[in-house]
Amino acid sequence: MFQLIDGKATSTTIKDEIAEEVIQLVKNGGKVPHLAAILVGHDGASETYVASKERSCSKVGFISTVIRLEDSITETELLEKVNEINKDPDIDGLIVQLPLPKHINEQKVIEAILPEKDVDGFHPVNVGKMVIGLPGFISATPAGILELLKRYRIKTSGKSCVVIGRSNIVGKPMSILLSQKTEFGNATVTLCHSRTPNLKEVCAQADIIIAALGKAEFLTADMVKEGAVVIDVGITRVKSEKTKSGWKLLGDVKFDEVAPKCSYITPVPGGVGPMTIVSLLRNTLLASKKEIYKGIS
Ligand code: NAD
Repeated sequence: MFQLIDGKATSTTIKDEIAEEVIQLVKNGGKVPHLAAILVGHDGASETYVASKERSCSKVGFISTVIRLEDSITETELLEKVNEINKDPDIDGLIVQLPLPKHINEQKVIEAILPEKDVDGFHPVNVGKMVIGLPGFISATPAGILELLKRYRIKTSGKSCVVIGRSNIVGKPMSILLSQKTEFGNATVTLCHSRTPNLKEVCAQADIIIAALGKAEFLTADMVKEGAVVIDVGITRVKSEKTKSGWKLLGDVKFDEVAPKCSYITPVPGGVGPMTIVSLLRNTLLASKKEIYKGIS
């Protein structure tokens, strides 16, 4: 019988812990953490993500500011805005919701954010620190997955782990973190991507599979060995006549057929997603305390 990894419940517990820390921080004369989010344009998914981050901030007692900019904004104007926030001592963390309009170079914008305020952990300085095992802000989704492994006491040391997807925000950092010399690292990691020819065979020998490719129900039972741990990062919105909203979310894993073979598995929704936001909150708390993320292990 598999055990469900409940990201929603875990994230609620962690939010309570963060809220308590904020109360203590303020009691001791510290500052209320403040997260700023820049939202360019009116993309529906981006609006939803930013709204959800705002709600989470208020839940744990943070201040949050959303800076809404029209998608006609020039790259120079956006960079000026980032610079203004960099200099604002009241704002601890800054995220720029991606994707940005095509005429703006995303990498340039990411690199304009001060590494000390880059609570998304996308700045090359934070990525570099993570790679060599120094404290820094770790990208929120991989950090959230590590936290789930930790809280469910899932051993990674010596395990064979397959990460599917090599994005800069999920797959690549995940593969590095799992192979680090840390308690929840020390795995032998295979990073698979769209050019991996024998994906099925590679997955079928894995103790742990992290699916982060963005293809609904891609991972099927024949790709998973008995007793494996499966972490589903994918989120694909598909039409549904059964829901009020008219759509539903699917993960990268064909849950119904894969789950019975697993020791542990995350659902979608309610698995990795809520943990991503919690990691962002934790990074912001650390930023406000002028500490940087110390907990790779
Ligand atoms: P991406 O969309 O930038 O890239 C997808 C990756 O998957 C690429 O590296 C590609 O090589 C690989 N890939 C594509 N098709 C493949 C195939 N057939 N076989 C093997 N590899 C293949 O990746 P991303 O931004 O990390 O997003 C991946 C998914 O995770 C998306 O569904 C996204 O919505 C979701 N996501 C979820 C969260 C969360 O909080 N739960 C956070 C970030 C991303």
